[in-house]
Amino acid sequence: MVVLENVSKCYRTRRGEIYALRDVNLRIEKGEFVVLSGPSGSGKTTLLMTIAAMLRPSSGRVCVGERDLYTMATSERARFRAANIGFVFQMFHLVPYLNIVENVLLSGRLSGRNASRAAVEDLLGQLGLGDRASHKPAELSAGEKQRAAIGRSLFNQPQIILADEPTGNLDPDNASAVLGHLAKFHGKGGTVILATHGPAAREFASRTIRLRGGAIEESV
Ligand code: ADP
Ligand code: MG
Repeated sequence: MVVLENVSKCYRTRRGEIYALRDVNLRIEKGEFVVLSGPSGSGKTTLLMTIAAMLRPSSGRVCVGERDLYTMATSERARFRAANIGFVFQMFHLVPYLNIVENVLLSGRLSGRNASRAAVEDLLGQLGLGDRASHKPAELSAGEKQRAAIGRSLFNQPQIILADEPTGNLDPDNASAVLGHLAKFHGKGGTVILATHGPAAREFASRTIRLRGGAIEESV
């Protein structure tokens, strides 16, 4: 359901061309839990962003669930992303002036869903944030922020969740809570693609793909 064909991403900088991705060919089936590994700078974030419909490659094709992402008009692609793809960032990226219920509701509205506050509170309760619903991100710990971000990514019932080093800023207990929620989404049939340069999430992976210098070095 995720297919990349000959995907390259090249940045032209003053110091010449940098290939963040080099001729990547990849197929990920519905229901896989894929760990993208590789050292810092190997292209993990760039690969996730191209799959997330947020970054157009310099060449090649990216399809998600039969749709060719970068042939869609920008507004159509944004709608497709909101309805089908959840994203969890290392640095959370919650809107600072909204409380966490409003953060989740906002992403629901962006995908055209008119959800109730009660439904959001129920989801936040399942993530152990029942008593934090009306707090703003600055009032939460890192672990709570990331669980709120998981709530945001789950709320639209996406087909895929992409997670970029989601436990990179968390202590071990919060890291395993976050991974547990992703594993639960996977257990219900969701597809997870998680980038990490460390050992996190290896135990959940149905496949590990190793990147080096923007190319796939190994897939096991
Ligand atoms: P990773 O997530 O594995 O650390 P990235 O995908 O962030 O790797 O980056 C891959 C390579 O592309 C790195 O060499 C990085 O410096 C380069 N890169 C990423 N984004 C840009 C950009 N906007 N401009 C120039 N180079 C970039
Ligand atoms: Mg990265």
